[in-house]
Amino acid sequence: MSSHFDTIVNLAKNRGFVFQSSEIYGGLRSAYDYGPLGAALLRNVKDEWWRSMVQMRDNVVGIDSAVIQSPRVWEASGHVGSFSDPLVECTNCNSRHRLDKLENPQQCPTCGMSGTFTEPKDFNLMFKTHMGPVASEDNAVYLRPETAQGIFINFENVRRTARLKLPFGIAQIGKSFRNEITPGQFVFRTREFEQMEMEFFCRPEESAKWLEYWLEERKSWYMDLGMSADNLRLRAHDEDELSHYSSHTYDVDYNFPWGWDELEGIANRTDFDLAAHAHHSGKDLTYFDPETNERFFPHVIEPAAGATRTTFAFLLDAYGEDEVKGEKRAVLKLDKRLAPIKVAVLPLSKKPDLVDTTEAVAGPLRRRWDIEVDVTQSIGKRYRRQDEIGTPYCVTVDFDSLDDKQVTVRDRDTMAQDRIPIEGLETYLSERLDA
Ligand code: ATP
Repeated sequence: MSSHFDTIVNLAKNRGFVFQSSEIYGGLRSAYDYGPLGAALLRNVKDEWWRSMVQMRDNVVGIDSAVIQSPRVWEASGHVGSFSDPLVECTNCNSRHRLDKLENPQQCPTCGMSGTFTEPKDFNLMFKTHMGPVASEDNAVYLRPETAQGIFINFENVRRTARLKLPFGIAQIGKSFRNEITPGQFVFRTREFEQMEMEFFCRPEESAKWLEYWLEERKSWYMDLGMSADNLRLRAHDEDELSHYSSHTYDVDYNFPWGWDELEGIANRTDFDLAAHAHHSGKDLTYFDPETNERFFPHVIEPAAGATRTTFAFLLDAYGEDEVKGEKRAVLKLDKRLAPIKVAVLPLSKKPDLVDTTEAVAGPLRRRWDIEVDVTQSIGKRYRRQDEIGTPYCVTVDFDSLDDKQVTVRDRDTMAQDRIPIEGLETYLSERLDA
């Protein structure tokens, strides 16, 4: 893997974005914990998705459904029968691999031997457990492998209570679980992860139009939040790649250090899910159009993104290095909306009157934004730390501030410094952070 990948993984660990799960017990492979900065970044990514998909639209609403649902949901959706990946095992070194992700399907990437794989077998990716005190097949339940089904089974509840008319969307953000054969590439593929999914219900004859619409909307979302257009592409699935439910699927791919890979799938799920749930539950899940007096199953366009995977892509994309006064500077040029800390307030020294003034400056800012007050080390080192975690503005309180009631604001990207009256600081920052 490239050094860019290693740099970001190290930065994530050392600065408190992402830690290996259960690290003090040697770590649990493929699970990660988000530290103070990572939790804030992940929350900001999810908030921006929610803002753009739900808050800004009058025909999309949000829900939050249970992780554990009736096992019949997963029978109806096809996950019990066909949510599987082809598993092969190397008879030489006993390593297991997902056949469709191998560069060379004949050769084991662990030991290098050829022709040593067993016949592929379908490995179901759902985590199975038991509900209640008896561990019997009758009590078997699954952790959801996608958030989408929680939306489909609530289609009628939500349509009726929110009084929605086609076309409309139901969105959800939450944890999903897949017992991946080969997790890896840091938080790119984990067994517990977060998704941001929206099911957009429309008239069947309008599905092609809405698919086009959501492809553009979703690609624009990443670019609007600062992801480089050169690192993004839309890719249509080939016929043999399509999931069991889909007639057309596109991926939004990101140019990861190991090559192009999926950030988000945008699929035309047709009426597969609603029809399947209607059939299995015996409930009427058709839509009645009062204008045309027709009753039919809406078709569905689904933009399904990974929150944790996307957060990783934003980190990779934002990282850069430049040179300041002959020294290397590492900087995360995260969009201001995503940056975990918006403003750092830094007294030039630890002298009590400077620290007091710093607290007085920081107080009102804290009510509005995630801020950090840092009094340790030299000012140069503190600037570098803030650059490395992507803080857009550093406010420095110096000895002159005590007399002239002004502070210096440093811009992360241009490194330009403005002298601003403390009185006008909140407005100055608001014009830049909330614009
Ligand atoms: P893949 O082919 O990479 O296994 P998929 O096509 O099965 O993924 P979808 O079912 O379309 O993935 O899920 C939608 C999104 O959820 C993905 O684009 C990805 O961002 C995220 N996602 C899926 N599986 C994982 C995982 N194991 N870890 C992290 N994110 C995931």
